[in-house]
Amino acid sequence: MTNLAQTPLSDRLRALVDTVQHNERTLRRFQNVELCLIGAQDFASFLATLFDHLPQEFALASVSIWLDERTPILRDLLDPGALRALNQRNLKTGREGGSAAARLCETGRPWLGRVSEMDEPAQTALFDAAALPASAIVLPLAAGGQLSGYLCLGSQDAGRFGEGMATDILERFASIVTASLDNVAHRERLKQLGMTDPLTGLSNRRYFDERLREEIQRAARYSLPVACLFIDVDCFKRINDTYGHLTGDRALAAVAACVRQQVRLGDTLARYGGEEFAALLQGDRSDALIAAERVRHAVELLELQDDEGARIALTVSIGVTARVIRGGAHQAAELGQALLEEADRAMYQAKNNGRNRVEVFEGGAAKPHEADAGLV
Ligand code: GH3
Ligand code: MG
Ligand code: MG
Repeated sequence: MTNLAQTPLSDRLRALVDTVQHNERTLRRFQNVELCLIGAQDFASFLATLFDHLPQEFALASVSIWLDERTPILRDLLDPGALRALNQRNLKTGREGGSAAARLCETGRPWLGRVSEMDEPAQTALFDAAALPASAIVLPLAAGGQLSGYLCLGSQDAGRFGEGMATDILERFASIVTASLDNVAHRERLKQLGMTDPLTGLSNRRYFDERLREEIQRAARYSLPVACLFIDVDCFKRINDTYGHLTGDRALAAVAACVRQQVRLGDTLARYGGEEFAALLQGDRSDALIAAERVRHAVELLELQDDEGARIALTVSIGVTARVIRGGAHQAAELGQALLEEADRAMYQAKNNGRNRVEVFEGGAAKPHEADAGLV
């Protein structure tokens, strides 16, 4: 009699203990992922934690995140160039994704249920259309009244996310994702500030040297040509002497903006020194020559006025060099510096030949890396 009465109780207790242990394990696994998110040093590793670590840890069929590019702190992180570099299908920024998620989470609470119950635009905007999960939860990423995006977790199991399920653990997780996102965005911003020249808004020399090395490594893999322009403003000391340093600063910023307009969006342009700019272009020597001539001409036509409204005439001298990089990726830094030196030498030639000119490096002088790279 007593035994019979005790059995269901002990079963219930065992079930309870199982649940507690299961929850504890779940919490510990969340904690692991959360620690990685909080410690993420950059946006790429933040995304890797979400897209690789999280689905593995919780057997999720899909993880995607929609981020609002209008959020000030995310703006630089989500600019088209940065997104292209990340190449993450599960990172969504399209307007449709935002409005679809906002419709689902109208009250600011998570949405959960079968994906087949979502309207089709929401399905395609939030998930990979080729591998739609059976059920999902859409969690708003918000802090202090500011919404920065939505996190979407999907499962193959149609019953995994559904009405009545407790969402407190996942909501807590979403708030950690929000805080970590803010943290990496600030980190990336600081990194960018250290790579940007404040006067012109262009990249600085440190960034250029880094990109040059990366670009040469890439070019070496595919035997591609890389071209470099070295651009120096002519007689700039005279501009300062005549109009004052502040107008000189304004003139430098105007030249930078003018050059930026003449090179492609994907080309790297930096303020390399005081009144010197360097550009790294993808293409061969004739492409680079065309770009250089376009830059020279545009600066010559630049309409800039002094405080009294008189036109300030500005010109630049440009040195051009280009190489097909074959092998030699291991000495990318040295090759990059060699390329830059050639462009610099050609620029001095342009100065000697009368300024407001473009000159090409023709070789002849000592070239330390001839074995690895051919002039084109
Ligand atoms: P060249 O045609 O031979 O290049 O003559 P230059 O006068 O341009 O060359 P030089 O190297 O003699 O002088 C460069 C000048 O650029 C001197 C420096 O004061 C000025 N400069 C460098 N950085 C800045 C800056 O940030 N703002 C201003 N206003 N001037 C700068
Ligand atoms: Mg100079
Ligand atoms: Mg100069």
